[in-house]
Amino acid sequence: MSAKIAAPRGTFDILPEQSAQRALVEHAARELLEAAGYARIETPAFEATELFSRGVGEATDIVQKEMYSFDDGGGRSLTLRPEGTAPVCRAYVEHGMHKLPAPVKLYYLGPFFRAERPQKGRYREFWQVGAEVLGSDDPAVDAELIVLLHDLLKRLGATVRLRLSSLANAQTRAAYREELAAYLRANEHELSETVRSRIDLNPLRAFDSDDLRTQAVMAKAPRLIDRLDSEDAKHFAEVRSLLELAGIPYEIDSTLVRGLDYYTRTLFEFTSDALGAQSGVGGGGRYDGLVELIGGPPTPGIGWAAGIERIVLAAQVSATRDVPPDLYVAHEGRRADAFTLTLAARTAGLRAQMELGGRSLKGQLKHAERISARHLAILDAQGTRLDGKPAEDIVRQVLSA
Ligand code: AMP
Repeated sequence: MSAKIAAPRGTFDILPEQSAQRALVEHAARELLEAAGYARIETPAFEATELFSRGVGEATDIVQKEMYSFDDGGGRSLTLRPEGTAPVCRAYVEHGMHKLPAPVKLYYLGPFFRAERPQKGRYREFWQVGAEVLGSDDPAVDAELIVLLHDLLKRLGATVRLRLSSLANAQTRAAYREELAAYLRANEHELSETVRSRIDLNPLRAFDSDDLRTQAVMAKAPRLIDRLDSEDAKHFAEVRSLLELAGIPYEIDSTLVRGLDYYTRTLFEFTSDALGAQSGVGGGGRYDGLVELIGGPPTPGIGWAAGIERIVLAAQVSATRDVPPDLYVAHEGRRADAFTLTLAARTAGLRAQMELGGRSLKGQLKHAERISARHLAILDAQGTRLDGKPAEDIVRQVLSA
């Protein structure tokens, strides 16, 4: 026998029973988002590497160490998509969607790839459902998106907490970055090695550190949320009051950092205590400069993504896989008749299955019972029976039963 080949580390098979759970999540997402006017978009599984290095940001962990990039054989670098926002913005620009009535509301659902260290809830190929709104900076868009993700998680039974912040605009952020970098430099001797090495590259990530001495320094660090200019402060206040109107509890968390560079203004994350270390179920934020950064016209945008596997874990979604058939066709020596009958039953709209496992007639009857078939047809040398009685037009009889 040859050696077994296992699936790569950090990947998983979606087995039939898990498919049923995931279908519930996907169905709820589709229903909620489409009812709110979001239309589905799907982009390719791989893109030009530059889309992510430019869009997600050179300094981010994703671009620095988590991308699966490869040469396409013609000297171009391609990357398995690590996230969905940059691709959706690329498609928005490429298809001239800025000419459509604004805002353009989109959602997606598919696999993403990051070379992360695998653990519970963290995989190298994972699925996300995501929503993006392009062409409006109305705070009601921010609030609507947050409410939609909240409602999706709630409908599926997950208990989550919402953390909210504002990252201001690019200029305020740049000035704050300098201020924070200067503060970090002044306290350099108290910081962890990693944080120290990232002072210039990405000082905001210092808030993410799990090093205790670094955390003590960060507790006293200047906060971006205290530096918002009047427009950003007003925008943030409106988002908050709309969330309050919707009755959605949140905590302001000025240390909220997400591993993507493109965010501006509103930033949010839903976490679940049911998840352990990887507690993020879904999150997102506003990215008013991203479309322009990848070559489109200046366009405000905002979106979120939530991991399907983490939703299933957080919500403990349970679903039964097997739907019992309406008709099970057992047969002995009459394969062609059984086949024709099964097809006719399906054409009439019945869930029908015929014996395909090479069982004896007795074994077939047992199998029909095991799968809880509603009706059992037997085709053999003695004739044709339905539920033990001689039968003529089986499909009609099952339909009228
Ligand atoms: P992000 O794009 O990093 O903001 O991620 C959005 C959501 O996708 C997270 O809240 C998770 O639910 C999910 N997610 C991100 N990375 C992974 C991963 N490596 N494995 C599983 N789920 C992930």
